[in-house]
Amino acid sequence: MTERKQFRAIKGTRDILPPESALWNHVEQTAREVFSTFGFGEIHIPELELSRLFERAVGDDTDIVAKELFTWVDSPRANKGIREARVKAIGANYRGNDPVAPLREEMIRLIGEGNFDKLAEANRISLRPEGTASVCRAYIEHGMYTWPQPVKLYYIGPMFRRERPQKGRYRQFYQIGAEVLGQSDAPAIDAELLEMLLGYFDRVGLTRTTLYINSIGDKRCRPLYVELLRGELRKVKGNLKEDSRRRIETNPLRVLDSKIPEEQPIIEKLPRISDHLCDDCRAHFAKLKEELALRSVPYQENWRLVRGLDYYTRTTFEVTAEGLGSQNAVCGGGRYDGLVELLGGPTTKGIGFAIGTDRVVLALSSILDTLVPNEEIPTSPISTLMQRPDLVVTGTTEGTWSRATVLAQSLRRRGLSIFLPKPGTKLPKVFDAAQKLGIRVAIIVGENESQGNQYAVRVLQPTEPKSPRDLRIPFDDVVRYGKLVKLRQDLERSLARLSTGVEPTPRGIALSRITQTLIAEGILPNRVGGTIQDLMSILNSAIHGKELTSGSVDWALATGNLLLNELETINPFREKENA
Ligand code: AMP
Repeated sequence: MTERKQFRAIKGTRDILPPESALWNHVEQTAREVFSTFGFGEIHIPELELSRLFERAVGDDTDIVAKELFTWVDSPRANKGIREARVKAIGANYRGNDPVAPLREEMIRLIGEGNFDKLAEANRISLRPEGTASVCRAYIEHGMYTWPQPVKLYYIGPMFRRERPQKGRYRQFYQIGAEVLGQSDAPAIDAELLEMLLGYFDRVGLTRTTLYINSIGDKRCRPLYVELLRGELRKVKGNLKEDSRRRIETNPLRVLDSKIPEEQPIIEKLPRISDHLCDDCRAHFAKLKEELALRSVPYQENWRLVRGLDYYTRTTFEVTAEGLGSQNAVCGGGRYDGLVELLGGPTTKGIGFAIGTDRVVLALSSILDTLVPNEEIPTSPISTLMQRPDLVVTGTTEGTWSRATVLAQSLRRRGLSIFLPKPGTKLPKVFDAAQKLGIRVAIIVGENESQGNQYAVRVLQPTEPKSPRDLRIPFDDVVRYGKLVKLRQDLERSLARLSTGVEPTPRGIALSRITQTLIAEGILPNRVGGTIQDLMSILNSAIHGKELTSGSVDWALATGNLLLNELETINPFREKENA
């Protein structure tokens, strides 16, 4: 037993398994859908960058860079650097009087000490701890300042920080980030980004979030405020703890982040940035609040929200969610005018955010856990996000397995999800495994049918209408039957989600298409098809974030359940052909 478990995911990393991974997909896919309605395009950025990028952009003094970077020397290059240094160093020994001799001596010393990291300083690379620096690097590298402005980009993926792992805090964690880069810093851009962010949380089903906003000034007024703050902090230094005392000199703003209870009354009396903004920053912040009101985006001001990264100016914000304990921030962001310049690009304004995917999923699962699923459709809310196979396709003998494989291929190409057990599995085992997966119908390729392109149908679940036990159907009927099964399953899952208050994932289009084909083929009566379309329009408004009245939810559930019963009585087979 111990042997089996000798390898485990390393500290701070973890595996994400089904059905939870379906929830992750939902969280990420919803971001893609919502962000694209605001004109954002997806960017894929590398997980590795030169360490210097983060040192420059995020800041040497920040925890992220000073303590949490996963960094190493890229060995082939470093080794080459070291080899070259050695050659040059030997050269230096020969040509004693050389202008760069001190440098070479330093190299000799470093080699002697085995201090290769220092030697290969320029070649250090890091796993990215955040995405903004890379997006700005890419903006410059690909000349995106010549694109129509502003450039709106989002990224989705893992980040790495060597933090102390706990619930909601990992060393490999995931973010969904968005950035707006361009020439304008209009408050409407900030407000629209926040509108999109809260719209996203709404759509994804994360309720009870709070948006906090602040302005931390710009490079004119902030330094003055920082000096003022430093002066005030020095006066109360004796009452502060070690960390805060150190920060008085290194980064006084960070003292405002302190959660230490004894420091709170002291911090509350400190001067507030809002009273020290320059006229431009004050006007920007005031306009932002107007723009948020215009968009009905609810927010709270929090003057202590300064955030841990160096590059922020003016607008900063954070979103917290309930049910997450101490790690309750699900998103952080702000304006970073000047960052692109700092990295060697042209004058550019920028604003962005990063959502903590892990925490959104955690918060959503805790919401899902407390929901009581509809009794008539007993599925757990998370599992309703999983796609179940529609059919199991199986052979019975040596000679039929290859036909089963080909049949599965054709059905999958038609959009049906197929469970194909491994060749040679005995029928009772196939049925057992299929039932555990929630599959209701088996298509059996038997020896007898193999000549006539006919397949046997076996009903596995009691909810499925009984078909004549040895019904043989042609391929086209297998497809029709499969579609009908899929339609029922999808409807059922959508209803289950509607009844638990979880937004149905958008499969409206797929459902619509299946419904239309089945009507056209004369399988679904028009009346039933019409009711499905009505039901779908309700599910679709839920998908598009429309508040549903309890009346329309009740109607949808009642009609949906009737419809499911009715669908079960429908015969998907062409009577004539089977007669
Ligand atoms: P930051 O990049 O530090 O502004 O963080 C943005 C968001 O990412 C936070 O609000 C968290 O939701 C999430 N986050 C940051 N660090 C971690 C971590 N170590 N583990 C999980 N989520 C994190």
